[in-house]
Amino acid sequence: MAGPMPEIPGPVAELLATLRGGGHSAFVVGGCLRDALLGRDPADWDLTTDARPDRIQTLFPRSLYENRFGTVVVRHAHAQYEITAFRRDVSYTDHRHPDSVEFGDSIEDDLARRDFTVNAMAWGGSPAEDSRFVDPHGGRTDLSERLLRAVGDPDRRFHEDALRMVRAVRLAATLGFEIEPETLAAIGRNAELARHLSGERIAAELLKLLAAPRPSVGLRLMAETGLLAVIAPDLARQPGISQNKVDGEDLWDHTLRTVDAAPNRSLVRMAALLHDVGKPDTLADGHFHGHETMGAVIARDFLSGLNAPRALQERVAHLIRNHMFLYQPSWTDAAVRRFIRKVGPGSIDDLLALRSADNEGSGLAAEAGDLPELGVRISRELAAHVVLGRHQLAVDGHDLKSELGIPPGRTLGRVLDELTERVIAEPALNDRAILLEMARTLVDGPAGGDWSGGSSSRIGEAS
Ligand code: ATP
Ligand code: MG
Repeated sequence: MAGPMPEIPGPVAELLATLRGGGHSAFVVGGCLRDALLGRDPADWDLTTDARPDRIQTLFPRSLYENRFGTVVVRHAHAQYEITAFRRDVSYTDHRHPDSVEFGDSIEDDLARRDFTVNAMAWGGSPAEDSRFVDPHGGRTDLSERLLRAVGDPDRRFHEDALRMVRAVRLAATLGFEIEPETLAAIGRNAELARHLSGERIAAELLKLLAAPRPSVGLRLMAETGLLAVIAPDLARQPGISQNKVDGEDLWDHTLRTVDAAPNRSLVRMAALLHDVGKPDTLADGHFHGHETMGAVIARDFLSGLNAPRALQERVAHLIRNHMFLYQPSWTDAAVRRFIRKVGPGSIDDLLALRSADNEGSGLAAEAGDLPELGVRISRELAAHVVLGRHQLAVDGHDLKSELGIPPGRTLGRVLDELTERVIAEPALNDRAILLEMARTLVDGPAGGDWSGGSSSRIGEAS
């Protein structure tokens, strides 16, 4: 089949030339060739060759071989490339790994182990010949029709490695391709096998899916094929739950609209995917009371099940827990500062982005709820370096000890907290002399006359 030639960057061509000059056949292969033919910038260029790892290392002294899969990492022209010896995968028993990896004899062996026809093409050749396409599975035809088709029998291929099903829906969204009907039907039949996959591998594909222009393409496929019920059962409960947001659309539609509307940052997209995951459990009388708290717990469990980094778990849960805030222009500046403190300055942008997406997912304008005004007010407070926590006060624990003799301990902590509250309410109070005087009064009671609240507000006495 004719068609465009791939554009191979100079450094990659040099690697191919070194291998071929060393007497080996060598090819660019897999996703990078697919992307180059599509005019997409490949994330990384992968090469394959009949040279075995020790030989690859001889040809490329600046290289590292520390796995058992035949992949040598080569440093060249300030970048890293993976050069993998031809492989042949044999006998899978656990639905996720080949039991062993054998080196293959030909590029055809290597292509046969790959997942989809568009990922199973190679460009290159032996030392003697001109570069050519090797495309035994019809990848270029499928590429032009924008189709993901399993290499070989899809049922067998998904039995070997269930991740291929997840990759199919992910690639459909990333590339804007359709899944060929036989391949799609096989995902439906084998979705249960995704149970055998490690959390890490699912998480990696899910993050790539969420980075697609419209993640909903892949997420809908997951729901329709049954993969979602296996991978994210709590999300799989959303279809069919009605919401009076967009006419005729249910909770799942709302979630998908929200994800698509979210900016392409993994944290915000993940939070968008999970932001209403607590709704099915909290539904009562047409309301979802407390769903954000429930949702935060479910989201954390879900991400921890995928072995996602603890920081991601916590940050996503935090965004979900706080996504139902109700801003009103009547908020005082102190209320804005309390909001910043509660959310944390580092999460504000993400929370506002989540809420705008949630608005769009509800069929509203992104700006609904006066979000832009809230954003402006928050920026103004942050630019003024307002006090949001103890450590920003003009006094610290040492001052309270040396000036007022308050020993470290609970009382000291409570005094600092109370001072923080007062400074958040009135930033002008953040002055060393004023704060020391306030602290003295809090501990000793008013110097003379009544302190508002009387002696009961004296902190030192509270149990
Ligand atoms: P991306 O653009 O996201 O990198 P990709 O298809 O290149 O997509 P990689 O994980 O980089 O994905 O894999 C590189 C190549 O390795 C694939 O194009 C495919 O040929 C092969 N491959 C990856 N995972 C599998 C798998 N589970 N089963 C079979 N072949 C696979
Ligand atoms: Mg790749």
